[in-house]
Amino acid sequence: MRLLMLGAPGSGKGTQARRLGEHFGVAHLSTGEMLRAEIKAATPLGLEVQGFVAAGDLVPDEIVERLIHDRVIDASRRGGYVLDGFPRTIHQAVAAYDIAKEADATVHAVVHLHVPEEELLGRLLGRGEDRLDDDAQTIRHRLEVYHERTEPLIEYYHGRGVLLTIDGGPPVDEVFTTILDRLTAYAPSD
Ligand code: AMP
Repeated sequence: MRLLMLGAPGSGKGTQARRLGEHFGVAHLSTGEMLRAEIKAATPLGLEVQGFVAAGDLVPDEIVERLIHDRVIDASRRGGYVLDGFPRTIHQAVAAYDIAKEADATVHAVVHLHVPEEELLGRLLGRGEDRLDDDAQTIRHRLEVYHERTEPLIEYYHGRGVLLTIDGGPPVDEVFTTILDRLTAYAPSD
């Protein structure tokens, strides 16, 4: 199974992506987690991206595209992937398609979790995760960046006939069951 998660910060896409990865026995690939690990280990890449992540801005496309490339190819060979937090721009979506094509492993479905703005803000402000990008001002900025740069992907994937929009409001277990239900129509044939 090859899936892509789309949703605003706070929509629960990380949680659902992890569970979907476990359920289908495929890799959960989170660019946010990869970037945070690089920053924590103070690698050259981590130092390069730290400022963007801390400010709630997107890391330049070329950097994340390079970061994810081999992992998508590897995961494709081992049964699939759930991409979480990538792509986040149209440029990245085109790159994701090219990478997947290279591995003959394009996505079966794009799961879009929809959550109203006030609910997102409440969840993010209440998380207390101690991330370097979770102060109130940066949270608001991350939401703006999502609307401006990532939301156009909803239309992009809708146009490709692979978009599944799910209400991300209910409790985690309920959202998960709904996703699995809706995914039966997209069962992989390869
Ligand atoms: P996340 O954990 O998915 O919320 O990502 C945390 C931060 O990592 C984002 O606010 C961005 O600064 C950066 N990031 C993660 N994924 C991407 C991506 N695909 N493109 C650009 N920046 C990203």
